[in-house]
Amino acid sequence: MGSTQAMLVWTFLSNQMNDRMQQHHYQFAFEVYDSIEELTEEDAWLLNEAREVTGMAYAPYSNFQVGAVAKLKNGEIVAGSNQENASFPVGLCAERVLLASAASIFPKIPVDTMAISYHNNNGESNHPISPCGMCRQALLEYEGRVNQSIRLILGGLEGKVYVIPQASMLLPLSFTSNDLK
Ligand SMILES: [Zn+2]
Repeated sequence: MGSTQAMLVWTFLSNQMNDRMQQHHYQFAFEVYDSIEELTEEDAWLLNEAREVTGMAYAPYSNFQVGAVAKLKNGEIVAGSNQENASFPVGLCAERVLLASAASIFPKIPVDTMAISYHNNNGESNHPISPCGMCRQALLEYEGRVNQSIRLILGGLEGKVYVIPQASMLLPLSFTSNDLK
């Protein structure tokens, strides 16, 4: 995988509890910043773009507008926003809209970093949100198909920012293509 840093902070620890059972601990490290001002210029720009892209969302049912903007390995920028539907399960999250666009326009180009923001029209937008379970699965698969980890920047319209070094860290014990062999 592309991120050496991620490999160092993603660890499985095992303890032999007795002769019949081992206990495994999964842990990973991520960065927490007080605000966007603490980020590097490039990361701050990407998060600001994600905040802007929340305005492109089609979310008349949840009123929860999500924006995602990614920088690809080739320097290109790709965006996505959530696209809802009156038939609710048809709706797509911003992250998967972005990944589908990236794969269609720039096939086989890895995603370096993805910033995700949101505008909750029913409440506050002042803390980081994390991708839903379905998007975690999609992010994991994308990392595998281009053989590079995806760094995530998570933040609302204001407030703290999380930086996750590798998206698949959010989905331990995951189901992958290896399980189908
Ligand atoms: Zn999702």
